[in-house]
Amino acid sequence: MTSDITNFSDLGLSPQVLQAIQSVGYEQPSPIQAAAIPALLAGEDILGTAQTGTGKTAAFALPLLSRLDASQRAPQILVLAPTRELAIQVAEAFQRYAKDLPGFHVLPIYGGQEMSGQLRQLKRGVQVVVGTPGRVMDHISRGSLDLSQLKSLVLDEADEMLRMGFIDDVEWILEHIPKERQTALFSATMPPQIRKVANRYMRNPKEIKIASSTSTGDNIEQVYWMVSGTNKMDALTRILEVEPFDGMIIFVRTKTATVELAEKLEARGYSSSALNGDMNQALRERTVERLKSGKLDIVIATDVAARGLDVERVSHVVNYDIPYDSEAYVHRIGRTGRAGRTGKAILFVAPREKRLLYVIEKATRQPIKPMELPSGETVTAHRIDSFKGEIDKVFAEQVDLSFYHELLAAYSHDNDRYPEDIAAALAHLLQKERPLQVTFAPIKPERDHKRSERGERGERGDRNERPSKGKKQHSDEDMQRYRIEVGRNHQAKPGDIVGALANEGGISSRQIGHIKLFDDFSTVDLPKTLAKETLRQLQKVRVRNKALEIRIDEGPGGAKDFGSKPPKKFERKSKAPKRAPKDKG
Ligand code: AMP
Repeated sequence: MTSDITNFSDLGLSPQVLQAIQSVGYEQPSPIQAAAIPALLAGEDILGTAQTGTGKTAAFALPLLSRLDASQRAPQILVLAPTRELAIQVAEAFQRYAKDLPGFHVLPIYGGQEMSGQLRQLKRGVQVVVGTPGRVMDHISRGSLDLSQLKSLVLDEADEMLRMGFIDDVEWILEHIPKERQTALFSATMPPQIRKVANRYMRNPKEIKIASSTSTGDNIEQVYWMVSGTNKMDALTRILEVEPFDGMIIFVRTKTATVELAEKLEARGYSSSALNGDMNQALRERTVERLKSGKLDIVIATDVAARGLDVERVSHVVNYDIPYDSEAYVHRIGRTGRAGRTGKAILFVAPREKRLLYVIEKATRQPIKPMELPSGETVTAHRIDSFKGEIDKVFAEQVDLSFYHELLAAYSHDNDRYPEDIAAALAHLLQKERPLQVTFAPIKPERDHKRSERGERGERGDRNERPSKGKKQHSDEDMQRYRIEVGRNHQAKPGDIVGALANEGGISSRQIGHIKLFDDFSTVDLPKTLAKETLRQLQKVRVRNKALEIRIDEGPGGAKDFGSKPPKKFERKSKAPKRAPKDKG
């Protein structure tokens, strides 16, 4: 893949879609977009190796929407996604990019959601359906999803679907939809099973990969912060308080974000300015000049606008939004450590972007170390230091204080106050808006629903017990103990199990009770009121490539009765399509 600059307007997208891109503030197509959009517009099949964060959703949504006939109500685009979260996200993205298409409707469909609502919406007519494989299959076999007009199929995060044991369902769907269609498959990795599906069901697909070999200098210290517990803006301000920086460039993805962030930082007292492609050349040059001369300390930029920027005093680069690929990452962090100086690069990574971090790290062959956000004590210590520094400055500058001296001596005498007490009161007044002593709410680890292979890194240890603080506790009578066929020997961790239950079963984390790991299986407490549909859904779910096969736990004596089949009551309804069982390994 090349890094030549392409514009969205050169790609052949429809005017309505271009208008939507303009209003969401995307400045330039990401590499995966630059490669995928023309191919998809030309009706080709594509096989894209791309992680979350590379802009892959827009890479298929924008061209497919450009070719959509909004006057026709039958589904023309079907996207299969492994999880409900992704299905919802993708549907929202379609909605955003189709905001100027009158009569456009997109529907996310997934297990655990009321069937009746989905049926009603499907009847009303939608052009795009985004669903998890199980539910899509149900609708096809019920006859409630008419795919006779389907033009394009997207398999999103195909390797995840494989890992979760959905690949048979996906193949079943591929067998039951029109053969005359376009297929786009996106996957973070390309295991042989995925290649097999691609060979079998795709027509001479164009392969698209993001760049993967680049290098970074070792004069730049690289760290990442896994976004959790607090928002990025608060994290950034905490870092700014303690990080000794000279000049800084903060990278974001959109033009709108450059302006918003600059305004927020200005309001917090940092001299900052946006740098984006909407600004004319003269204004951009002036901004860079101000950064050079120290009139400005922080510039918030998009990739395009910061291209080639060379300012020696830039000591820090913050990747507020993760770059699309390693090439962009290398380019971004190369804005610091100029002219033989050292620099520091800080990367914010949302849990779902973890894989992209891994890709960047692998491509640059440089470790990116996890960082902790500064604690309340650290921030307090810094504020106290700078407060003392401000006082020192007044003395160092030999400011004439005689007026205040007399005033306060008189006040002390008249009111019988010690000078320290008066000074403390004044310090309080001075720092009222920004107290020197700060405490932050403890950061709760955010569960990563995708059970990544990098699980150990950046996460805060295993959750052997469900955290009890702040959670609704269930009385034992409300709960039922279930047994799942995944245990320590399968390298399962409680976090994996919670992730699977929450993500696939749509069980909210507060409903999940105690999890106990044994060697070959585990038990988990769940509400007695759990819907059968949810349990049925969970049958398919895999943790560490092992099916949960969830069933009511019958205690140590009951274990020998457990066959490899789930109890009948959770089995697929007879309506579900019949097919030959395949090895899901
Ligand atoms: P994805 O890889 O599809 O999960 O997209 C990651 C994020 O990048 C989403 O928040 C998108 O809104 C954003 N994004 C996608 N394409 C662009 C673009 N060309 N310019 C700026 N942001 C983008």
